[in-house]
Amino acid sequence: MNHHDVKDDPFCSLRHNMVSSQIRSRGISNQRLLKVMQCIPRHLFVPRHLQKIAYDDRALPLDEGQTISQPYIVALMTEALCLKGDEKVLEIGTGSGYQTAILASLADSVFTIERLRSLSHMAEKNLQALGYNNIRFVIGDGTLGLPDKAPYNCIIATGSLPQLPETLSAQLDENGILVAPVGGRSLQKLLCVKKIGSKVKRHDLGGCQFVPLIGQNGWSS
Ligand code: SAH
Repeated sequence: MNHHDVKDDPFCSLRHNMVSSQIRSRGISNQRLLKVMQCIPRHLFVPRHLQKIAYDDRALPLDEGQTISQPYIVALMTEALCLKGDEKVLEIGTGSGYQTAILASLADSVFTIERLRSLSHMAEKNLQALGYNNIRFVIGDGTLGLPDKAPYNCIIATGSLPQLPETLSAQLDENGILVAPVGGRSLQKLLCVKKIGSKVKRHDLGGCQFVPLIGQNGWSS
């Protein structure tokens, strides 16, 4: 990206501001991640009438009562996955596909599962138009994971879970990392789980608010 871009594309300068004032300033330091967030056109993942505020420090509504996560939360969860470039990732809750784009830019391949067909199709169309060819879109109940393609180096849930299902941690590879908001219906803790040998190491990344994952190991509605 050069200075010409920054001056001529208003979204480009909004994006630079987003990265410096919301992401880097709050302690996210992974250089590959910062670079990718500076490039991915978040405004193309929000409803048209919200494009002007696509880079604001907040979640935004999508169709079907769902939301695109706040940029900082996307960064925090992604940084916790420690992606180097050769990972196979499972994402639960495709939504807009913005988080998917970031994962696909930083890992080898992404399987993304969404419960709502219309959102999955919209995200797929969008990500194909942007040139991504390492993403597989699945429609279904992601609270069961995607056992067919397991194990995964990383699993990320972008909707909340009442507890961490054993089915999901079982689909993690050796040294795999799982990040998910776990807790109540409206407030959760962002949990990061690492599988080390036969042990599982957990740490808490802080409070958060996600829409629910609805499914067998999630919420009933
Ligand atoms: N990462 C997305 C977040 C979307 S919100 C973004 O930033 O745009 C969470 C998404 O999870 C919603 O699209 C919702 O429809 C989906 N979802 C809910 N329950 C699910 C389930 N059991 N399996 C897969 N997706 C689910």
